[in-house]
Order: sequence, then C-alpha cells, then structure tokens
Amino acid sequence: MATRYRCNACGNLTRFDVVATRRTKSFHHFTVGGELHVEDEVVLDEQIEQVTCRWCGSAKAIEELSRDSAAEPGADAGTENEVATAAQS
Ligand SMILES: [Zn+2]
Repeated sequence: MATRYRCNACGNLTRFDVVATRRTKSFHHFTVGGELHVEDEVVLDEQIEQVTCRWCGSAKAIEELSRDSAAEPGADAGTENEVATAAQS
C-alpha cells in the first residue's frame, strides 16, 4: 500500500509532487531490434526527499497519514485485534 499524504495548509489529499530517490532492480528486456521494455521492477530502497502540495505549493504542512488512520472501517487491522482477543478468552 502506498503512503498517503495530507496538506494541512489547504486540506489537499490527492495531488502532490513527490521527490524521491529509489534503488530498484528490474528486468531489462530488449527486442532483437534494440527496443527496451523494463519489466518486473522491484523497489529495493526508497527515500522520500520532499513532498509538495500541488494546490497551494506548501512543503511544510504536509502530513504523512498512517495506515491506521487511512484505513477503511472493517479493514485487516481490526480483524487481527478480534482474533487476538478471542484467543485470550
Ligand atoms: Zn496545500
């Protein structure tokens, strides 16, 4: 699941410029004619350097949303808690 962001300056949840450094492994598949198709890219390491709001341009008011607060009700996290509680009783 991708990290979600919220701009606390204007309330934007959907449009951001993200500057990131990624180290990736991928399958470079060339045709006989030399045309490249990059397939099966795996992100080995990722550093998010800057997130900027597309609406208001703020980079300082961007909040990273945790998976818990972004999750829909009834998602996997709640199910795991219920299972743990049932096992203890
Ligand atoms: Zn904003």
